Amino acid sequence: MNKHFSVFLVLIMALALMARQSATAKRVLLISCDGFRWDYPLWYNTPALDAMAQHGASGELIPSFPSKTFPNHYTLATGLRPEHHGIIANSFINRKTGARFRLSDPKTKFDPHYYKGEPIWLTAQRQGLRAAVFYWPGSDVAINGHYPNLWHRYDEKPHMTFEQRVDGVMQQLTDKHGPELVMAYFEEPDASGHNYGPQARETRHAVEHVDSLLGSLRSRIAKAGLSDSVNIVVLSDHGMTWFKPSRQISVNQYLKPTWYKSVEGSLPTNIYAPERWQQDSIVKALSHVAHLRAWRKADMPQWLHYQADPNIGDVVVLCDEGWLFTDETCHDGGMHGYDPAYSDMHALFRACGPDIQQGVSLGAFNNTAVYAIVSHLLGIQPAKNDGNDDYQRVARTLFINK
Ligand code: AMP
Ligand code: ZN
Ligand code: ZN
Repeated sequence: MNKHFSVFLVLIMALALMARQSATAKRVLLISCDGFRWDYPLWYNTPALDAMAQHGASGELIPSFPSKTFPNHYTLATGLRPEHHGIIANSFINRKTGARFRLSDPKTKFDPHYYKGEPIWLTAQRQGLRAAVFYWPGSDVAINGHYPNLWHRYDEKPHMTFEQRVDGVMQQLTDKHGPELVMAYFEEPDASGHNYGPQARETRHAVEHVDSLLGSLRSRIAKAGLSDSVNIVVLSDHGMTWFKPSRQISVNQYLKPTWYKSVEGSLPTNIYAPERWQQDSIVKALSHVAHLRAWRKADMPQWLHYQADPNIGDVVVLCDEGWLFTDETCHDGGMHGYDPAYSDMHALFRACGPDIQQGVSLGAFNNTAVYAIVSHLLGIQPAKNDGNDDYQRVARTLFINK
């Protein structure tokens, strides 16, 4: 073989290898903005999210029931519905031990037994990739005995500011030997949405602040020359609707204390009442109360997918949108946790990057699909999950390399 030709051949092979390596070395940045309604960009000024929709894909994520923070962030991370991943509410009772799972109780929040399935950071690490996670719910728990390669304790105060998280994300992305998966969580606009309602000056401000952070992240990624190697997904866990105390339904007014062992949460209310007569008394007492529905666990409607987990209450009470079944003091503002069929509960979805089609609209899809979407972008095999139907449907429109 001609000497020049063989050098040329070696060069071509080396280039091909480099190209393959760079194709497989793509990274994913996954960001959650808690309580970001899918339609905030229609109300407020969100140039960064609008640009992502233009340069990539936009959609409307249907949360899993209940449309609460921990259940849905863990669904986004695992692709499993709450009835299959075990985080069935922000607070519930463990029937085996009698313990009360609460986000504010480190004994239960950090107990890995509650967290079933495999979150995306562990799926990635099991397949040889690395993950850095800034505050995603569940990331500070030793699930299956493991943490992400980089993680932070949420109960260690003060929290990193949003700006520090953006800096941290950039540090990871610009590190040549850094992780392939970077995830970050922002508590806004959920906090403002609760305090002031979805349509309030303060909530507008929170939405626009988060948008400006996303804009700064994207321009820093571009400046670092990483736009062609990072796929970005921005989403949220649920939406937000209006609430006022005149829509509060008292528990004590309708239920006698002898009818239950424990009443947990308000959206939904899981009632632990082991005796059949107790369950029947509760369902009967609530059957004529307007703006709520009560089911024995066995009678839960199929569309809520809220039956399989043993820690779900013996009776589940769910209010109509904008109502609350509780005796706690409430104030005017915003609320979520309702039936995911309400469009006010739907959440944000944006994606852009080298493997994402430009300017496509995905419509509404279930948030169980996100785990497989991120797995595809990372080039890893997802574990068994509940999102396959929606994933198959969305993947056809979303990806460039299917
Ligand atoms: P909600 O909006 O009612 O679903 O409640 C969400 C709560 O979860 C907020 O108060 C957040 O501060 C809290 N939260 C978010 N992430 C974490 C975390 N990783 N660990 C504990 N609490 C969290
Ligand atoms: Zn939330
Ligand atoms: Zn919230």
